[in-house]
Amino acid sequence: MGYVDEVIEMVVEKNPAQPEFHQAVKEVLNSLRPVVDANEEAYRRDAILERIVNPDRAFIFRVPWVDDKGQVQVNTGYRVQFNNAIGPYKGGLRLHPSVNLGIIKFLGFEQVFKNSLTGLPMGGGKGGSDFDPKGKSDREIMAFCQSFMTELYKYIGADVDVPAGDIGVGAREIGFMFGTYKKIRGVFEGVLTGKGLTYGGSLARTEATGYGLLYIVEEMLKCHGDDIKGKTVIVSGAGNVAIYAIEKAWQLGAKPVTAADSTGWVYDPDGIDLAALKEIKEVRRERLREYPKYRPNAEYHDGRGVWTVKADIALPCATQNELNLDDAKALVANGVKVVAEGANMPTTADATDYLMEHGVIFLPGKAANAGGVSVSGLEMSQNSERLHWTFEEVDTQLKGIMTGIYHNIDAAARKYGYEGNYVAGANIAGFEKVVEAMIAQGVV
Ligand code: NDP
Repeated sequence: MGYVDEVIEMVVEKNPAQPEFHQAVKEVLNSLRPVVDANEEAYRRDAILERIVNPDRAFIFRVPWVDDKGQVQVNTGYRVQFNNAIGPYKGGLRLHPSVNLGIIKFLGFEQVFKNSLTGLPMGGGKGGSDFDPKGKSDREIMAFCQSFMTELYKYIGADVDVPAGDIGVGAREIGFMFGTYKKIRGVFEGVLTGKGLTYGGSLARTEATGYGLLYIVEEMLKCHGDDIKGKTVIVSGAGNVAIYAIEKAWQLGAKPVTAADSTGWVYDPDGIDLAALKEIKEVRRERLREYPKYRPNAEYHDGRGVWTVKADIALPCATQNELNLDDAKALVANGVKVVAEGANMPTTADATDYLMEHGVIFLPGKAANAGGVSVSGLEMSQNSERLHWTFEEVDTQLKGIMTGIYHNIDAAARKYGYEGNYVAGANIAGFEKVVEAMIAQGVV
């Protein structure tokens, strides 16, 4: 059995009941085969693959808090510090009932390669809790965040591990967590990113992932002799990534026609009304079924179905495994040209294979959604130099980083004979840098 297969088998055996983690490891290691084959003896001796699939450490802790009725609730908190070969651990915190150790490990593992691709000095980590923020009062959210940070603070620090937001963690939650960290440690430092603008946050962080997604798609199309202008775009999700992907799509001359939340989706033949979407989701925190009240021409459907709409570009921006094989078949039948992942691992492995086999250009999340962590990295830089950059400065750097990522993954794919395979290109480019740093630092 080859080295890659041995390690995949070991991961599945030693990490039972973690299917998302298995999926991520298989996807990454399978596409690294040519690099591993070329260096097998040295990598085996240094146990490079065993070291890269095992996190440096994983913390699991109890998070007790009191709800508005005076009832004590107990959730489970996680922080997985995966790899800090190239910089402090960096990665978001997810608050969602589906969160478990396997999901946090899958996200942390992917984060290692994504952060490496940005070119910034950031290692990989991820955390969160099975706490469900939906329907909770501000006081309950604060109680949870304070309790969560009362344990998490022991493991993080501006030069150690710098968490950020993810699903269910926005500016409000980061604010409560930052306040608690500062109170316990008595230190004002850039320990979290995604902070409010009045206390160390970066301009353009809110927009970064969605904007970055469109920047990389724009650059990729340009390099394929095409143009994003005039393209029809379908988007899933109606959260942070989706909203700013839709905003930038409009700005670049494309036409986004869908959005979706966890209860349903909308198709607006005239293009999504960004102001209405922001009002529903960011201001009123309502369900998308309200959208037709603002746009009578639009259709609302319960359940899923975004991927049945005819379009040139599909941007899954909601959650993992939301685009399956049947969806991929519908997209191909409708002539989609590009699928770029705004969310983390939204496309199932068989759907990804199907799309690529049918000539669809596929940009994987670890490259396509790296805009968020890139601006988080820029927030760390601003905090370290105690300066605040303008929106334009950050946005220009973001665009440069996303353009750079495209050329980096394209070159890595070509180098190993995988031209046009950006899944392989992203994994190889991210991996090579981390491994070089690991080898240079010895067995630690
Ligand atoms: P948000 O919580 O802001 O939004 C998530 C959106 O997806 C919501 O509209 C939510 O619906 C919808 N959704 C969640 N679960 C499902 C589901 N099972 N089926 C259908 N829709 C669903 O999260 P973000 O926009 O921040 O993140 C979206 C994805 O992007 C995640 O995978 C995240 O890890 C990834 N990502 C985010 C980054 C960031 O900077 N924010 C950076 C890189 C990746 P509802 O409104 O009903 O909850």
